[in-house]
Amino acid sequence: MAGRALLSSHNSLSAIATFSSVCRPTNRLAPYHFRRLRRLAEPFVLTTPLYYVNAPPHMGSAYTTIAADAIARFQALVRPINSKAARGRPPEVEKRKTRGERETKESFSPIVLHQRLLGKNVIFITGTDEHGEKIATAAEANGRNPKEHCDAVSEAYKMLWKELDVAYDKFIRTTDPRHEGIVEEFYSRVFSNGDIYRADYEGLYCINCEEYKDEKELLENNCCPMHLKPCALRKEDNYFFALSKYQKLLEEHLMNNSNFVKPTFRLNEVQGWIKSGLKDFSISRSSVEWGIPVPNDEKQTIYVWFDALLGYVSALLDEDAHPSLEKAVDAGWPASLHLIGKDILRFHAVYWPAMLMSAGINPPKMVFGHGFLTKDGLKMGKTLGNTLEPKDLVDRFGSDAVRYFFLREVEFGNDGDFSEDRFININNAHLANTIGNLLNRTLGLLKKNCQSTLAFDSDSAAEGNMFKDTVEKLVKKAKDYYENLSLSSACDSVLEIGNTGNLYIDERAPWSLFKQGGSSYETAAKDLVLILEALRIIAVALSPVAPSLCFRIYSQLGFSKDQFEATTWADTKWGGLKVGSVMAEPKPVFARIETEKEGGVVAKTGGVQQTSKVQGKNRGQGLPQAA
Ligand SMILES: [Zn+2]
Repeated sequence: MAGRALLSSHNSLSAIATFSSVCRPTNRLAPYHFRRLRRLAEPFVLTTPLYYVNAPPHMGSAYTTIAADAIARFQALVRPINSKAARGRPPEVEKRKTRGERETKESFSPIVLHQRLLGKNVIFITGTDEHGEKIATAAEANGRNPKEHCDAVSEAYKMLWKELDVAYDKFIRTTDPRHEGIVEEFYSRVFSNGDIYRADYEGLYCINCEEYKDEKELLENNCCPMHLKPCALRKEDNYFFALSKYQKLLEEHLMNNSNFVKPTFRLNEVQGWIKSGLKDFSISRSSVEWGIPVPNDEKQTIYVWFDALLGYVSALLDEDAHPSLEKAVDAGWPASLHLIGKDILRFHAVYWPAMLMSAGINPPKMVFGHGFLTKDGLKMGKTLGNTLEPKDLVDRFGSDAVRYFFLREVEFGNDGDFSEDRFININNAHLANTIGNLLNRTLGLLKKNCQSTLAFDSDSAAEGNMFKDTVEKLVKKAKDYYENLSLSSACDSVLEIGNTGNLYIDERAPWSLFKQGGSSYETAAKDLVLILEALRIIAVALSPVAPSLCFRIYSQLGFSKDQFEATTWADTKWGGLKVGSVMAEPKPVFARIETEKEGGVVAKTGGVQQTSKVQGKNRGQGLPQAA
């Protein structure tokens, strides 16, 4: 959807349309009333766009999905009772792993599949949009049939999400027969409500955009501004959705739901569109075979909006439930949050709620449009040859570095830029130094002076010490930022805990206090507990952003994988480390990335010794065994 939508930002058809309507829309408005939800514990349902499989995943899709995963992980932390444990790898990925085709660096416990049945307070949906002319063309170019092509590309998405530690709950493919059933039912509902009509249409069509263009937006020789290729005159009769009927309802909806579109500056944009007048839009194609047939007209197929957008709903169906719109809606609709790129805002914030209103279904609660990524200050694209391959990045630097960089570096909602220097500097400074090195040297001191054993509870070690208050304040800030989707600021607040820890340890110099012995020795032993407790809190609070790294920190602090997976936001409360606990052998948790004069980028593990080429796996140190 993102890909197609990226190309479909200007969809004002009527300017060059010639209507001869076959069946006019009625004036009867939709049975639009919001049903009271029967659920006691409403799930937090969030979605990424369903990605268009005309090409392999790109960095833009990876960025949306990483952000969605971080939000899902945070929501799972703050939502009580088996919420976090209820989330995990989708079954197909589990299966693949057990077949041994691929070793994972981190396997999520199989219990998650069982526990998901008990409660699902967070449902994270992603997937692929697999219909349309471009898919058929791309498949043919690769010598495959469309289905084989879709299988291969959607698999590439799944593999990338796995490498990026993206733990989605539902992966919906629009070629899934169950989804097709939902689309037909939805279409029929809107049709019987009188909001779909047939009309002749003639206009200039861009094959790459898969849509008719408004002459006003075209360049010389009717060239598409996106593809720089001439559009062809096409004539066909299509089905249209009577969007114009929903003008007033949409205006009211936006007025009464100030959080419907975020960030706020994008709400203004949406209000502007609505104010300028809504035009009916075409929802079928007569010339495209690779699609879901229009229920009452086998000669036409359904165009993207009445297909892909419905994926958000059909994804909710339980695997063994009979596929019906009502069952899908009951399983968790309305979505709490649609996370999208700003290019498809119009379709999610205007078309989609109107379509849902027509079908008598609640609109989603929030649509968040994030910005675009550039590389070294330039728009990324094949023509410039400066694309950024997410697979390449994660292979070279590991998931934590990729996730942390984009979530920390890009103010969520605005545009952001990638440069490799910046990427390396940020990760080294924050993850390797501020956090990794603090853990490493503290554990080193503990090993040398206290046999790696805590001499105090973190609670008693903190008595009368301002350090604890500072940490608590920063954690509170991080939570507020996460809740407001200010992911970059959330990262900063957590990092600030690390900075505070480094300042504290440097100021107190426990290494010399240990040498003095007596009460100074005791003070030093307490100081180490304070720092380690702060690091434990960091490991919980940063886990939505860098889950693998945080697990490594947690296990160095003597916790098991099960314990890490069972953490909730309540575990950011001071007091988790107890007297007598034995810490693990100090081992670097994040390999420093270093550039070598010749031979490109290398990773240095542990800051001093082993230097290794990064092109292997920077995360090659793997996951330490849980203590
Ligand atoms: Zn185009």
